[in-house]
Amino acid sequence: MGSDVWHSLTISELQEEYETDIINGLTEEEAKIRLSANGRNALPPPAKKSKLGILVNQFNDLLIYILIFAAIATLTLSLVKANGIYSIEYFFDTIVIVAVLVINAGIGFYQEWKAEIAVNSLQTMISDNTVVVRSGQSRLVDSEELVVGDLVEIRTGEKISADIRVIEVENLRVNESALTGESEPITVTTSPLTKSTPLADRTNMVHMGSFVEMGRGKGIVVAIADETEVGKIYEMVSSIASFKTPLQRKLEEFSSNLAKVILGLAIFLVVFGLAIEFGLNSGQVDPLEAVLDLVIIGVSLAVAAIPEGLPIILTFTLAISVQKLAERNSIIRNLQAVETLGGTTTIATDKTGTLTLNQLKLVGIHTLDQTLKPEEGVSEFPDMLEVLQNVTLPIVDSDPLILDPLDRAILQEFKERFNMVEYSHHFSFDSERKMMSVIVDGELFAKGAPDVLIGKSIEYRGESLTDTVRESLQSRLEELASQGFRVIGVAKRRVDSSKLSDDIEVLDLEQQLDFLGFLAFIDPPRPEVFHALEQCRTAGINVVMITGDHPSTAYTIAKQLAIVGDQPRDQVTLTGTDIDQMDDEELQELIPQVKVYARVTPAHKLRLVTLLKDRGEIVAMTGDGVNDSPALVMADIGVSMGIAGTDAAKESSDMILLDDNFATLVDAVEEGRRVNVNIRKFTNYLLASNISEVLIILFGFVALAIVNPSLLRELIPLSETQILYLNLVTDSFLALALGLEVRERSIMQEPPRNPDSPIVGRTDLIRIVLVGAGIALLNVIVFLVLLGPVASWSSLGHSDVAFVQSYTLTLLVISEVFIAVSYRSSKRVWNIDLFDNPLFIISLVLVLLGQLAILYIPILNLLFDTRPLGLIHWVQIIAISLIVFFGLELSKRAPESTLSTSK
Ligand code: ADP
Ligand code: MG
Repeated sequence: MGSDVWHSLTISELQEEYETDIINGLTEEEAKIRLSANGRNALPPPAKKSKLGILVNQFNDLLIYILIFAAIATLTLSLVKANGIYSIEYFFDTIVIVAVLVINAGIGFYQEWKAEIAVNSLQTMISDNTVVVRSGQSRLVDSEELVVGDLVEIRTGEKISADIRVIEVENLRVNESALTGESEPITVTTSPLTKSTPLADRTNMVHMGSFVEMGRGKGIVVAIADETEVGKIYEMVSSIASFKTPLQRKLEEFSSNLAKVILGLAIFLVVFGLAIEFGLNSGQVDPLEAVLDLVIIGVSLAVAAIPEGLPIILTFTLAISVQKLAERNSIIRNLQAVETLGGTTTIATDKTGTLTLNQLKLVGIHTLDQTLKPEEGVSEFPDMLEVLQNVTLPIVDSDPLILDPLDRAILQEFKERFNMVEYSHHFSFDSERKMMSVIVDGELFAKGAPDVLIGKSIEYRGESLTDTVRESLQSRLEELASQGFRVIGVAKRRVDSSKLSDDIEVLDLEQQLDFLGFLAFIDPPRPEVFHALEQCRTAGINVVMITGDHPSTAYTIAKQLAIVGDQPRDQVTLTGTDIDQMDDEELQELIPQVKVYARVTPAHKLRLVTLLKDRGEIVAMTGDGVNDSPALVMADIGVSMGIAGTDAAKESSDMILLDDNFATLVDAVEEGRRVNVNIRKFTNYLLASNISEVLIILFGFVALAIVNPSLLRELIPLSETQILYLNLVTDSFLALALGLEVRERSIMQEPPRNPDSPIVGRTDLIRIVLVGAGIALLNVIVFLVLLGPVASWSSLGHSDVAFVQSYTLTLLVISEVFIAVSYRSSKRVWNIDLFDNPLFIISLVLVLLGQLAILYIPILNLLFDTRPLGLIHWVQIIAISLIVFFGLELSKRAPESTLSTSK
């Protein structure tokens, strides 16, 4: 059947067409048959390229070009050089470079692929369920198991998982923007429409990918998977717009700066070399060979300067972290969110369920002048019991699967006293209205935020509601709320049944109420939240509470939690109404001091998050409702709730708290900080080793140009193969281990990092350059001494070159080990536990074994152009490395300062 007729069928035609039953649904057996015949209700996984993948490729481009260039240059040289031994050597270089190209691309791909799988599999942990009626029983099934003809229930907050022809509605409003781009929700209807109705106007259909903003309903699944409207335009929908995170921006900036410096140095080296060759050595110079040789040295320099392993190590570090967080109840929906989390400066958190346990307990029933225990209350005021029964039972009866804690608390108290009710209308709760209501026998029963209900009331317990009574009620509410109770009001009214058409407006009904009284609930704070908030305080993270609850309740809880100190309520609390009366400038002025935003709606949240971001804050904001989506998307880190969250909120968030717990969020921030510090550690380290390599080549070159220009092209301190070995094995092993460093104890005792500060700050850079220069200078001096009369030599033997290169390579390996040890911590090495990161020790041992193998195994000597070193050389090398190491250690600032605050 074509998609253009579903909306035009009557319900009985529908029933016939899909061989289903609009009361009992399909039978279990039939559903099983259809499932195996037609397949699961799933779209093929999006062929999306991860954002980081794009980053990695961009970062790699320059490297790949340089390496390809190096491969071509060495191959050409091996063909041009007449001298056999050099020719073979260059050919080895070519082979190694090509191998590196292939392996590098392979590892990069594998890592990226694995990381993506990890993130995707985390996403599937967030199950997407639908209530389906089969063989007369309603139960929750995985949405992928829906089949055509299934009778499903549609619930507030839910994401629609198939195309559904709706047959029953209760004030159902659905946001179909995923399909139509229209952000206003549509009111869903049930009667057949004419065939020619365009897609956007088919109000009796709800489509896959839409969100239920309000109400409930039932419908028949008419299309699943790629047969759905969304499925048909899937390619279009699944292309996700990419945007850049701070880390990506900084890395790009960093790598483009690096590329410029590298290019500048390489060009300088080639031009300088050519000038010397053609100036001083002209006559005996073969121009082609000279140019090729110098280009090779230039290329070596470039290869030495690029931290080839960086992108892979970065992805790996983030992926490990995401995995670790998943074990601790935080699902991160994209890799970079970890890094952003670490930079959080403001957490805007819900109160109910996040800071509190959301285990409500009814503790009191109150009227203007009476304060009673729940039991006494309902005996004294049977009308309140009646309201509670009528507003609670419809929820229980039709939807046992998700129960609001408020309703659960009411049930817990009075379940035995409740009788079954037949209701005609049900208007579910939403944060905009802050109330819900039910119509039974022409009477409307409501519960909701008391101030809202009082505002909509014209009577108090049957008497007309005068201004004085109104004021007394408000101050009674104030009195209860300021004791920290979550206070709910109950009210009722008669409704004219002639007004009850199919498309009645809720807001028209929920007014002219008779306000009956208050219910006071307690909702204790989560015990672990106290410590989490303490951590935020020491970590310089500003915490603000954003809640739909009453300002006094919110303020009192905030005070219990020490989110606010002794400041009076007015100074630290704003309500939604206050906010509405201010323009952005006025609000900006108050934002630094306000800790509690109460009686707010999702629209206020969006405005607040925007203003906070304008101040340069990195904002993590929690949310659970359908309408919270825009604010979650706007926040730097949108945090949704695993338990209480709607599908819409989860979909729009960067991170999901499986346990809804504020402490879990703070824990994730801490993990983010650890990762950020470690990223800095290994980036600094990698840069330090790369600069050492570059300066060794550069200093060696300049020294030769001064003492004996005729050897200029022969005595290169390191070959390409050796440089690549250093960058891909030595550095990468150690950097990877640095990425896994445990957190420093002080990590939550420092202010958040300025998000704009570069990855490698000025002080860091100076330190790095000094380290590199130190190693290079000492290396050159040793050479000039070791090789003795280098100044007077006219040529070098192959083994002399091999010796120089072995020596340099080993010096670099050993000093890089020492540098890595130093970069492990912002504290001086003798103040830390060197064995708390076993992986570091393992990497270190592997690196040393590798170096011994390269020096002392003949076949590797051939491959790497190396030669065994003697004991005296080792002593010299270790001495040089130690000098640099202690220099680096002493450059660390006073004990209390740390890497993560250095600029
Ligand atoms: P919060 O949960 O942060 O208080 P909400 O927007 O969810 O924010 O709720 C706003 C107010 O609406 C609550 O303070 C309470 O007075 C009322 N309320 C919340 N849930 C319900 C419910 N299920 N039924 C009736 N009223 C409710
Ligand atoms: Mg709530």
